[in-house]
Amino acid sequence: MSQKEMSAKVEPFAAVKGMNDILPPDSARWEWLEDKVRSLMGLYAYRNIRTPIVEPTALFERGTGQSTDIVEKEMYSFEDKLNGESLTLRPENTPGVVRAAIEHNLTYAGGQRLYYMGPMFRHERPQRGRYRQFYQLGAEALGFSGPAVDVEMMLLVHELFANLGLRNVRIELNSLGLPVERQAHRVALITYFEQQLELLDSEAQRRLHTNPLRILDTKNPAMQALVQQAPQLLNYLGDASLAHFDTVKTLLSSCGVRWSVNPRLVRGLDYYSHTVFEFLTDELGAQGALCGGGRYDGLFELLGGKPTPAVGWGMGLERVLELIKTQGQGSRVLVPDAYAVIADASAMAVALQTLQALRAAGVSVQMHAGGAAALGSMKSQFKKADISGARYALIFGPDELAQNAVTVKSLRDGSGAQVIQSLADVASWAPTLQSRT
Ligand code: ATP
Ligand code: MG
Repeated sequence: MSQKEMSAKVEPFAAVKGMNDILPPDSARWEWLEDKVRSLMGLYAYRNIRTPIVEPTALFERGTGQSTDIVEKEMYSFEDKLNGESLTLRPENTPGVVRAAIEHNLTYAGGQRLYYMGPMFRHERPQRGRYRQFYQLGAEALGFSGPAVDVEMMLLVHELFANLGLRNVRIELNSLGLPVERQAHRVALITYFEQQLELLDSEAQRRLHTNPLRILDTKNPAMQALVQQAPQLLNYLGDASLAHFDTVKTLLSSCGVRWSVNPRLVRGLDYYSHTVFEFLTDELGAQGALCGGGRYDGLFELLGGKPTPAVGWGMGLERVLELIKTQGQGSRVLVPDAYAVIADASAMAVALQTLQALRAAGVSVQMHAGGAAALGSMKSQFKKADISGARYALIFGPDELAQNAVTVKSLRDGSGAQVIQSLADVASWAPTLQSRT
């Protein structure tokens, strides 16, 4: 670095566009959500899997599909400087989980139920509910072919939303049947669209012969009428596919879950077969898809594994948290139970030991930390105790020290009540400070 560069004033950095910092107090809502997810996954016997954020680009080209939005235009890909291999920041995690399942032969002794939470990356136009780094929760059930697991997957999402207090989330279902059934429908679809070529937008014209099914997924309002009239895949399904779909619908209803069939729901990814579904809300504008998934019985083979039936879903956590906020659920702010006010450096050792004992007893305590020369006046320390939101101040002053005690002062009930507590038996009075259960 030149002298001039060193002395130039540094412009502060900003986060990459479309990528967000999650800061306190907002991060407390994330932790709350993550806790709910973990306990629910435990109840359904789904186990956590953590795969790398970077995968070979070819995994997504093959797994997600060449003619999907993701692979066509949304991937963050770069060359590995060492060997020139093309790598990609994961835009979704199903291919990564399946890659790991094949690599480690996870289904050798039967099915596996897995879930993950973590960041995904897509180069999209940032807007509310659509970011370039966003968090997905996802679940994958590997090795089960029957319709019951499709239902279990949806029950899991339904139950999570109920636990989070969400209302007015609807479920749309469709069946994509088997590849051979889709092939017959594809021919009919191409014929239909070819007769109305002038009504297709440029994207649809481009997809007409690569992936005509995806035209049904268009968000272009001008094409909705055309798409409404298009041949429906459901009319091309054979008996076995229809039976699978019927069982899914019947079982869902028997569990008290409401659904509707959307014959144009095809999902953006190439790997689905049979059941596909989305959980949607009307309260987030255009970004109303909260969770999407389906069965992907062909993906293992496509990625070089043994034929393995599978079903999964992915959920956008920013959108879920946004909906929780929109529906007026209180923000969750974490405050410590107590704030330790320390009169003088000579009290520090006793204070630190006491705080350790309190924390061991489950009390959350924030310690006052001052400058190198002085801890700050009692007045300024009490001000900080107030800002912390703690319900109690613990005062470690000279009088207290002399008695091997601490004063516990109530900060929030207006009483200002003080009690002296002995340091000889911290565990016996610690529970009185605890606000959390
Ligand atoms: P959309 O139609 O909104 O682009 P998608 O079909 O691309 O969604 P999926 O690939 O199915 O989305 O991902 C599952 C979930 O992840 C979506 O339902 C959504 O909640 C969330 N999601 C997808 N892309 C983004 C993004 N760029 N920012 C935030 N959340 C997203
Ligand atoms: Mg998308």
